[in-house]
Amino acid sequence: MDHQKTLSPHVLMFPLPLQGPVNSMLKLAELLCLADFHVTFLNTNHIQNRLSRYTDIESRFSGYPKFRFETVSDGLSDDSPRSADRFIEMFLSMEAVTFPLVTEMVASGPLSCNSERPVTCIIADGILSFAVDVGIEVGIPIIYFETISPCALWTYLCIPKLTETGQFPFKGDDLDAKLTCVPGMEGFLRQRDLPSFCRASELIDSTIQLQLVLKQVQKFPKAQGLILNTFEELEGHLLSHISTVCPNLYAIGPIHAHLKARLSLSPKLKPKHSLSNSLWEEDKSCMAWLDAQPKKSVIYFSVGSNTVITRDQLMEFWHGLVNSGKRFLWVRRPESVSGGESMKGQIPAELLEGTKERGCIVGWAPQEEVLGHPAIGGFLTHNGWNSTLESITEGVPMIGWPHFVDQQVNSRFVGEVWKVGLDMKDTCDRVIIEKMVRELMDERKGEFEESAKHLSKLARESVGEGGSSYCNLERLIEDIGSWSLHTLKS
Ligand code: UDP
Repeated sequence: MDHQKTLSPHVLMFPLPLQGPVNSMLKLAELLCLADFHVTFLNTNHIQNRLSRYTDIESRFSGYPKFRFETVSDGLSDDSPRSADRFIEMFLSMEAVTFPLVTEMVASGPLSCNSERPVTCIIADGILSFAVDVGIEVGIPIIYFETISPCALWTYLCIPKLTETGQFPFKGDDLDAKLTCVPGMEGFLRQRDLPSFCRASELIDSTIQLQLVLKQVQKFPKAQGLILNTFEELEGHLLSHISTVCPNLYAIGPIHAHLKARLSLSPKLKPKHSLSNSLWEEDKSCMAWLDAQPKKSVIYFSVGSNTVITRDQLMEFWHGLVNSGKRFLWVRRPESVSGGESMKGQIPAELLEGTKERGCIVGWAPQEEVLGHPAIGGFLTHNGWNSTLESITEGVPMIGWPHFVDQQVNSRFVGEVWKVGLDMKDTCDRVIIEKMVRELMDERKGEFEESAKHLSKLARESVGEGGSSYCNLERLIEDIGSWSLHTLKS
């Protein structure tokens, strides 16, 4: 008995060093801490420094004595940019420097079976395909955590089939052409809805991105399981398709809502603090501004942590929002406008006036709180998967303006499958923006609100005691526990 007590599971978690994946992986880490697991969370130095600077993360996790942060280099110099448009550069640097360091840590270093507290399971972001080789080499189970949407993941998994049937690479330039061989998406999936890297002509590095994705797809079946940030009631039909490739799925999302639900079950742990994992400083002044706005009157506009827009696009959005006559809360992340957003003397008076009357602009917002505020009536979003799930959970209808990776698929699902908003992809025009904002907030408000409310209810039920995500997390916890006993005994 005593012997078994010392064998508590020890999970090594390694996220992709970007805001969305780090955010959801940290939430999963806290869920595993609540299950009393030992957790080592491995961040790149750059991410750890930013988290320490802008959040209370270290004191928050100090409440879990079995949790610790470890850091590793991403191979880039301190002052190198790590924005998403440099993703490939960062990834190649990690392949050369970080992955060997992690392998060494697990195989013979401080996390190995010779150490005081050996790692018994690795949870790595789905794109970190090297992790499965490490797991096989040292005999530790590896579970991927796919932080993109399952609907997009299923299109990734179908790329070989699309290639075989001649539907990919695209022939001709009719992006509205329908794709017929993605099971479960026949009838509504168009070329323009596939992940951004499928459009070779438009995107830099798309060939390398595609290769990375194909490598990822090949590695999945070798892992012990795949964690997905979704819930069965939202994407159940796609989960059954994905399980033909990766049979052991754990759909435990929406993960942010799941963490809140579990914390609320344990009065001792009810969050007295924020749950922020932001890599920028949150400007909370927007909450007081929201408090002063009527119910469901505000459209919230944010393109997340990676998207960069041009000055022309900035002006189209600005005109569109002001001309809609609606109140708006706009996140203008530092460095999110190419060439800088300083336009002294060039901003038309009506934009300044309209913003003063009805707008609030901040550099970074406490987004989960914003979406849960009663004044919010809609979300103009890039449809990053975290943002999409946060909006679904709060029952906020969306206008999708996707930028890259899974976002193109997500915005199609928002408009065509879940019917909780409009898909504005591939256009950035003030007249269309104004029209869509009015459609979302006035003309079709009732219809969108009804479907959004329904999905929100399903999302909350799934993470409540006995719900689908709740039970799947229980199964994940049990599995990790049983694998670790096995690993440590052998
Ligand atoms: N976010 C935030 N404040 C902001 C904008 C975004 O806290 O002003 C958070 C948001 O809640 C989400 C994450 O940043 O959890 C963005 O992740 P997502 O997957 O939506 O998009 P990405 O930034 O990865 O493109």
